[in-house]
Amino acid sequence: MGDGKLSDCKISGSKACDYKIRAHHGMCLAFFEGKGYSSEFTMHMGKMKQLLSENPEVYIFSETDDICSFCPNNKAGVCLSEGKVKNYDSQVLALCGLRSGTGLLWKDFEKLVETNILKAGKRKDICGGCQWNYICENA
Ligand code: SF4
Repeated sequence: MGDGKLSDCKISGSKACDYKIRAHHGMCLAFFEGKGYSSEFTMHMGKMKQLLSENPEVYIFSETDDICSFCPNNKAGVCLSEGKVKNYDSQVLALCGLRSGTGLLWKDFEKLVETNILKAGKRKDICGGCQWNYICENA
């Protein structure tokens, strides 16, 4: 699983975390309203949002994740916009005080994103150039 290590999971010790989530998707999921890159992708993202609402253990990464797995922009495990989205990931990780590969409960990550980025008014500085910005801007 990417560059993550089981020992990074603070929650379950020797057990692997349930999902791999790239850091900037913590922002995307907060504003997801059923729009996406393809119908298959959108359906999958809705399903992931539902699964995450049950507060599983997750690994936070800066690489393609369990949401990217259904994205048409995911080419052999690399996003077509990898440079741009890696930059988003890096900023989210830094603002949340995390490093790529950290394991934690989904709701703890969600709270870190909400407090340190969304409520702090920093989202647009990170991903204001994204094609979906109008959704987050008007939420
Ligand atoms: S592959 Fe790229 S565009 Fe698709 S969901 Fe992942 S980060 Fe977003």
